[in-house]
Amino acid sequence: MVAFNRGLASNPTALFGGSKASGLARDSLETKYIAVSLHRADELHTEKTQWRSSPREMNNGRVGGNMGAVKNVIVLGGGIGGLTAAHALRRIGVSVRVIEMGDRSDRIGTGITLLGNALRALAELELVEACLQGGHGWDVVSIRDAAGNPLLQQFSPRIWDPDRPAALGIMRPRLGQILEEAARTSGAEIAFNTTVTRIDQDAEGVTVQLSHGETDRADLLIAADGVYSKTRQQIFGEEFKPHYAGQGVWRYTVSRTEAMDGFILYRHPTGRVVGALPLSKELCYLFFLETTDEKLRVAQDQVCHYVRNLLAPFTAPELIQAADLVGEGNHISYRPFDVLMMPAPWHRGRVVLLGDSAHSLTPQMTSGGGMAIEDALVLAQELRRSRDLETALAGYCVRREERVKRIYDIGYAICNEERNPMHSREYQIGLLREGYAFLSAPV
Ligand SMILES: Cc1cc2nc3c(=O)[nH]c(=O)nc-3n(C[C@H](O)[C@H](O)[C@H](O)COP(=O)(O)OP(=O)(O)OC[C@H]3O[C@@H](n4cnc5c(N)ncnc54)[C@H](O)[C@@H]3O)c2cc1C
Repeated sequence: MVAFNRGLASNPTALFGGSKASGLARDSLETKYIAVSLHRADELHTEKTQWRSSPREMNNGRVGGNMGAVKNVIVLGGGIGGLTAAHALRRIGVSVRVIEMGDRSDRIGTGITLLGNALRALAELELVEACLQGGHGWDVVSIRDAAGNPLLQQFSPRIWDPDRPAALGIMRPRLGQILEEAARTSGAEIAFNTTVTRIDQDAEGVTVQLSHGETDRADLLIAADGVYSKTRQQIFGEEFKPHYAGQGVWRYTVSRTEAMDGFILYRHPTGRVVGALPLSKELCYLFFLETTDEKLRVAQDQVCHYVRNLLAPFTAPELIQAADLVGEGNHISYRPFDVLMMPAPWHRGRVVLLGDSAHSLTPQMTSGGGMAIEDALVLAQELRRSRDLETALAGYCVRREERVKRIYDIGYAICNEERNPMHSREYQIGLLREGYAFLSAPV
């Protein structure tokens, strides 16, 4: 999720089929748009197999035949990271129980974009086909003016498979359903409406007290309980807590017209930007970034009016239609960006953090979910590779911390730049290019 704000862009060399910049209405805009490439072929890693551990290392694991560091695991949190971890661990023969405080029906929200690195990890776990079927693959990033006239069109690189889409948009509830089905089918047990009220660990295992009174014990507790993780707070201390990054975003789902193919940014000369991301054949989601020193508070009964005002300057037919639909039963949400980057180690004894509980990124790089998916795959690989738990968890942290931190830093730098009235679009584009190139590298 990136807002290209005001400013003149320099022209990094056009790549990936070049840029298609329309001359339409360009001179009438305050902002001048010119061909900008987000990718340089020589910066990208596009070999098909890019895991430091070979894919066979994962696939050789037999359910029930685990020889690694753990035999059973409790996963706290059934979000993107927790469910992917449950599935990945079952594939290497580890018994898994997922504890999720919410209900399955709580899965609401709009969509999520998974970039090529996330698709690559999902392919490794044999989940990518289901995700592609449940969502909408896309290749093109375009910038349009407020009236919908194309200004720039750019192909994203297909880093995981040259014959498949570069990225995927999917409704969050659909992704949750796919990951839950995969985890269950591979043999994980999932308890909804349940949480953990106490955690005790000793040399042999970790014991958790569950909210309905039962206790459970395992070799390892994976805390995939999100950015506001209580486990992180309890095990690592109060000092590791998220902070507000000075931006937030409005999002809601609308019908997708044919005009809304790929990732589109509609720019108004005032600098305001509306983004659209396809989620399925019929749906896409719209987002608007808000820069505010304090977290925005809009009374519930004012939300529709507020969002319609945000859309009012945009005259592209699909956005007029979207504005008409505000409040027509679609769920409009505002999310402030609360961010956190835990320094390694992400484990203490037999408790390890995964996904947003360890790192919550600003969404500029559309990568938080992808990082959680990669975490899950790498943790399973390390737990299988080593018979010693400490070695396996240390290996996980080594492989994950630097990679996630780089994407966290780049996303945060873009966010800060967007907040700066004198921001440089050229600098932003450079950061994005650096981020995408880095994401394509082996994990
Ligand atoms: C506005 C916005 C846009 C984003 N867009 C993208 C994008 O396009 N692409 C992308 O890759 N990422 C995106 N992200 C980031 C992505 O949503 C997160 O990184 C991802 O959801 C993290 O997954 P997770 O499993 O670690 O945590 P979560 O998805 O937060 O899941 C945590 C789970 O733990 C459960 N839980 C919490 N506490 C407890 C407890 N005590 N007991 C039991 N269960 C508990 C919760 O109910 C939840 O189900 C975006 C984030 C934001 C804020």
